[in-house]
Amino acid sequence: MRILYMPKTKYWVKFETNMHFENNQKFAQNLDSADKLKQYKEEFIFPSNSDNVPTLYFCGNSLGLQPKGALHSLQVELTDWGKLGVEGHFHGNNPWFHYHKFLTDYSANVVGANPIEVVVMNHLTVNLHLLFATFYRPTKNRFKIIMEAGAFPSDMYAIESQALFHGLNPDEVIIEISPRDGEFTLRTEDILDTIEQNKTDTALVFFSGVQYYTGQYFDIRSITQKAHEVGAFAGFDLAHAAGNLDLKLHEWDVDFAAWCSYKYLNSGPGNVGGVFIHEKHCTNPSTPRLSGWWGHQEESRFLMKKGYIPELGAAGWQLSNAPVFGMAVHLVSLKLFETAKIENLRNKSIQLTNYLQFVLEDAKSKNLDLDFNIITPSDSNSRGAQLSLLFEKNGRAVFDHITKNNSIVDWREPNVIRIAPAPLYNSFEDVQKLGEIFASFSKI
Ligand SMILES: *Cc1c(COP(=O)(O)O)cnc(C)c1O
Repeated sequence: MRILYMPKTKYWVKFETNMHFENNQKFAQNLDSADKLKQYKEEFIFPSNSDNVPTLYFCGNSLGLQPKGALHSLQVELTDWGKLGVEGHFHGNNPWFHYHKFLTDYSANVVGANPIEVVVMNHLTVNLHLLFATFYRPTKNRFKIIMEAGAFPSDMYAIESQALFHGLNPDEVIIEISPRDGEFTLRTEDILDTIEQNKTDTALVFFSGVQYYTGQYFDIRSITQKAHEVGAFAGFDLAHAAGNLDLKLHEWDVDFAAWCSYKYLNSGPGNVGGVFIHEKHCTNPSTPRLSGWWGHQEESRFLMKKGYIPELGAAGWQLSNAPVFGMAVHLVSLKLFETAKIENLRNKSIQLTNYLQFVLEDAKSKNLDLDFNIITPSDSNSRGAQLSLLFEKNGRAVFDHITKNNSIVDWREPNVIRIAPAPLYNSFEDVQKLGEIFASFSKI
């Protein structure tokens, strides 16, 4: 058995259609031994059951696992705080005054950005509002926002409140695009057509990178291009895309994006978020924004004078001083991404997700009690590490069966199981074992 690691996604796609999978443990183990990223599994702490058997964990799209290095990194900062008090800002091992900067280059590499375009700060939804303050400034003629129907609730609420905040009626502002009848995911042509149909009054096109429910990976480049063609900005919520896909935000000319660090980026519950603002906007000091002291030009920040001078780049959108403890954990995780490299992770991920699809469909074909359809696109270019299974019946019972078998997947009302094999710490053998658990389901 030979596994080829092709450098570019398009070669993989060709490769994958010829890939012959087998649903047995030996085959999965062979794939694992050829996996150049297999050692990263050792960097993470897996939950385990009461007999100390590690859990099969497929919930990295909701909360990634804890890197083993997190505790030490956090301890360094706690120790410095204890030893140095306020002096830690300048004399700690990692001076807190600059702490956000330690994360910038790594984050930029994860999302395909130039370092000047990225800053780690606040939390995802907070950051979206800050970015809307910059990129959603409705006028009488341009005020509409185009987005996907069924977006993550925080996106829906944030956008709705933006309309209300500007004294507008959300029903007149928000245009939601839904899948066609009988379909579960959006066609890119329908997204582009909707933008075209609203070309004179659209201010903002705002999408997720990967749809949290269906797992669809939107065509960020085409959506951005079309938004620009009609004179609108294009922004993305990358909660399910950062650390999952090989993004090229700068090259794709995306205006802005934000993501969280606790899903595929494995940085712990509710940890800090990341922000991208394209160079053409963030290096312009007159780009409007909501300001705070930490975004002030660094050299003169502590002169504490009236009159805001922004730090150049996305750093000029910071409000508050860096939350070091959260960032210390995020830093450990980002370093793993730096060495593994996002393009390698994506290559493995394509194959891992394809294998998951293969073993699940195999289980389904042999077990009449398994009545689901995978609503995530089957084309690797239109999905990341997640498969969403829509159940006709027995969905909840299947979920309970999986949970009883020491495995963690995710249940979404009313009838969807989401499974996300994370290429940093999931193996082909994990996937094959999960397939066996599915296969062993029986309706009582
Ligand atoms: C997870 C997720 C969020 C969470 O937002 P927080 O502000 O981090 O709580 C927001 N948007 C999307 C699309 C998500 O998947």
